[in-house]
Amino acid sequence: MAIPRIVVVGGGAGGLELVTRLGNKLGRKGQAEIHLVDRNPTHLWKPLLHEVATGSLDSGIDEVSYRAHAYYHHFRFHLGSLKDIRLHERYITLAATLGANGEEIQPERVLTYDYLVMAIGSQTNDFGTPGADKHCAFLDSRQEADRFHKQLIQTFLRLSSQASLGSPKKLRIGIVGAGATGVELAAELHNTTALLQAYGLQLDSGDLAVSILEAGPRILPALPERLSRAVVNELAKLGIDVRTSTRITQVDSAGFHTADGSVIEADIKVWAAGVKGPDFLSQIEGLETSPTNQILVHPSLQSVSDERVFVIGDCARCPQPDGSFVPPRAQSAHQMASHVFRNLMATMEGRELADFLYQDHGSLVSLSRYSTVGSLMGNLSGKSMMIEGKVARFVYISLYRLHQIALHGYIRTALIMFSARINRIIRPRLKLH
Ligand SMILES: Cc1cc2nc3c(=O)[nH]c(=O)nc-3n(C[C@H](O)[C@H](O)[C@H](O)COP(=O)(O)OP(=O)(O)OC[C@H]3O[C@@H](n4cnc5c(N)ncnc54)[C@H](O)[C@@H]3O)c2cc1C
Repeated sequence: MAIPRIVVVGGGAGGLELVTRLGNKLGRKGQAEIHLVDRNPTHLWKPLLHEVATGSLDSGIDEVSYRAHAYYHHFRFHLGSLKDIRLHERYITLAATLGANGEEIQPERVLTYDYLVMAIGSQTNDFGTPGADKHCAFLDSRQEADRFHKQLIQTFLRLSSQASLGSPKKLRIGIVGAGATGVELAAELHNTTALLQAYGLQLDSGDLAVSILEAGPRILPALPERLSRAVVNELAKLGIDVRTSTRITQVDSAGFHTADGSVIEADIKVWAAGVKGPDFLSQIEGLETSPTNQILVHPSLQSVSDERVFVIGDCARCPQPDGSFVPPRAQSAHQMASHVFRNLMATMEGRELADFLYQDHGSLVSLSRYSTVGSLMGNLSGKSMMIEGKVARFVYISLYRLHQIALHGYIRTALIMFSARINRIIRPRLKLH
């Protein structure tokens, strides 16, 4: 009898954890064929992207090669971008892979499946704001974060040489969106300026003017209000200008146009507000999606359109018993990966599938080396508890450690942590090129 073929599309926070477990459990014993498809050759945990963008993290050190990981964990890796799904015929189509000069490296291909897991994440939602896609940087992928980093270093170099010629200029950076991404990026930018100054560039902290522009009445809307007040105080200490109730209606080369008719000038513009599923998902025949392109799923995490298609992470629109939907977070993707692993095993063994219940363990925001604040959910009381400082930093990093343990196990993760400590001693504290 043929063994089942499970195809996971998207090797991100959720998909890579799932495919690693499936490979270790089923692939290793030849009980199922496990395949991973991703449009990139390497994985980097997405919540690290703002650190890559500012240079606090060298993406080359933390990234995981899918092909090598597949070899160690008994699955097959396919480099390619998902283009289409044929639900009735049970196959997916991958677009042709092109080289740096547009030459075709791999032709368009199809891959059949018995079970498909969609884990392709989300992208930033600019809500169709005119000029946003042309003038703003987005932090949706490592390539975008690397591009932002290059632009930042070049701009700082220009500023430094202007200052040395006696005509100093300010660098104005505008960030749209006061969610965790926008807030964490703003704080990291201050750290970058301080480090570049230490490494010899003629800059001072007053040369950087960062504004966070938020349409809603307060920053970090997904977190408790007292937490958002604490973060506003920390940002004020760094001189970061936070403007709430400021809706952006247009972006051009000069800056941001607001609903009240004013213009906020910015040399570097970042859009970090809102998420949506990849646009092409809503074009796939027979696949039901939400208005923001997320795939509609039952609480079992099976697509409402086809029970052989499971969906995890940001691209899933999963209802919860209280009428809310699972939020697009790394901790959701992590929990969903474990749940779909169990439900896939149940499906193949003919057992009943369980519903997914999201456990909110709280949220943390890292303000670079300056501070970390957050709230932890008390499991028994159901109430949240505010934490900050070293404890908060430890819990913040723990989420990444859990991801690393899911990928590499305890011993390799300990070795990775040890080598990261050594790197902190022997390498510069900032990626300088
Ligand atoms: C800067 C930043 C900071 C964040 N900080 C936090 C935080 O502190 N805490 C938190 O909980 N969450 C945070 N998040 C959100 C978190 O990163 C996401 O919720 C999480 O990564 C979602 O996991 P996922 O597996 O659904 O998707 P992802 O991790 O985004 O992975 C998707 C994968 O699919 C691949 N892919 C996409 N399209 C295709 C395609 N067409 N074909 C093939 N492959 C494809 C991508 O290459 C990627 O590998 C942050 C996000 C950002 C951008």
